[in-house]
Amino acid sequence: MKWALLGASDIAATRLIPALRLAGHEIYGVCSASDDRARDYAQYHDLAHSTSDLAEALSWPVDAVYVSTTNELHAHQVVASARAGKHVLAEKPLALSVADAPTMVSAARIHGVVLATNHHLRASGTHEKIREIVGSGELGEVYFARVAHAVGLSPRLQGWRITGERPGAGVIWDILVHNVDTLRADLASEPVEVTALTATTPLSRDGVVDMSVCTFRFANGVLATTTEGFAVPHGRTSFEVHGSRGSLVAYDVMRQDPLGDITLTTASGSREVEVTDRENVYVKTLRRFTEAVEGRGAPYSTGEDGRIAVACAVAALTSATERRSVRVADVLHS
Ligand code: NDP
Repeated sequence: MKWALLGASDIAATRLIPALRLAGHEIYGVCSASDDRARDYAQYHDLAHSTSDLAEALSWPVDAVYVSTTNELHAHQVVASARAGKHVLAEKPLALSVADAPTMVSAARIHGVVLATNHHLRASGTHEKIREIVGSGELGEVYFARVAHAVGLSPRLQGWRITGERPGAGVIWDILVHNVDTLRADLASEPVEVTALTATTPLSRDGVVDMSVCTFRFANGVLATTTEGFAVPHGRTSFEVHGSRGSLVAYDVMRQDPLGDITLTTASGSREVEVTDRENVYVKTLRRFTEAVEGRGAPYSTGEDGRIAVACAVAALTSATERRSVRVADVLHS
C-alpha cells in the first residue's frame, strides 16, 4: 500500500517508517505543521514529498495515512483523512475526549475506510501467548491481573509529554491507554469501573500526571491494577494474571520490542512458557491492517478499541480528581 505520514514524529522515524519498509509498503510523503520540518524530515527519511498543508497531503495518491502527531491533533486529522477516503492507522490515544472518539469511528464507517488504533502491544507474541493461556482455562477462574508499566522516559521524549504545553500530556494518556487495551484483549472482558490515584514527580511540570495507580473491575469479575510512570528508569515492566488453578507472570512484556518471558505456575509446578513469535509488533500491526483493508478481518486494535481506551483514561482522570470510583459506561454515555 501507499502511505502518507501525518506527523514528522519520533515514533514514525524510529518504528513505523522502518516497519512500513520492512513490510513492503511505499511511503509517499510527510505532512508537518512546518514546511521546513516537513522538508528536512522527508529528506532525512528519503521521502519524495512533503507539505505543511493537511488538505494537500490528503489529496496525494495514497491508500492510507499514519497519524502520529501530538495527541490533541489526532481527532481532527483522523476525521479529515476518513473524509478523504484514506484508511487510517492512528496513534494512541485515539482522541482526548469521549465526544471526539465516536465521531472518528463514525467517520471511518460512513466513508468506508478502516480505522485502527496503534495499541501495538496486542500484536506482541507474548501477549498472544498470554491470551491463549487465559482462553484455554488453564488458570481456572481468573480473579486478578496486574500490570507494571512505569518506565524512565527517554530524554528525547521529555517534551510535550511532561511539560503540559499541549493537552494530552502525562502517563494516563501515554501509558494507561495501552494497559487498558492490553488487559481488555488478554482478559477478553470489558472494564466496568475505575479508581485511580495520581501524582507528579519532579520530572514533570505544572502538575502533569506522571505517576498513576489504577484499579479496574472487569465485567467478568477480574480486579486489575495498573501502574504507570515516567520517572522509573530501573524498573521492569510486567503483566500478571492470577486464577483459581494457576498464575501467570510475564516480565518485560509492556515494551515496543517483542521481548519478555512468561512463567506459568500450577499445582504441577512452575514452567517457562515458550514464546516462538518474536516478530516486530509494528510489522504485525501493519499486516493485520492491510488484511482489514482487503476485507479480511479486523485490525489488532480498532477505532472502537481506541474509543474504549479513551473512555478509561477519562474515567481514571475523573476518579483521581474527584476521589471516587467512576463507571466506564457513565463516561462512554456522558
Ligand atoms: P514527537 O514529539 O516526536 O512527535 C509529535 C509531533 O511533535 C510531530 O508530529 C511534530 O510535529 C512535533 N515535533 C517533533 N519533534 C519536533 C521538533 N524537534 N521540533 C518541533 N516539532 C517537533 O512524538 P512521538 O513520536 O513520541 O509521539 C507521537 C504520537 O505517537 C503520540 O500520539 C504518542 O502517543 C504516539 N506514540 C505511540 C507509540 C506506540 O508504540 N504506539 C510510541 C510512541 C508514541 P509536526 O508533525 O507538525 O512537525
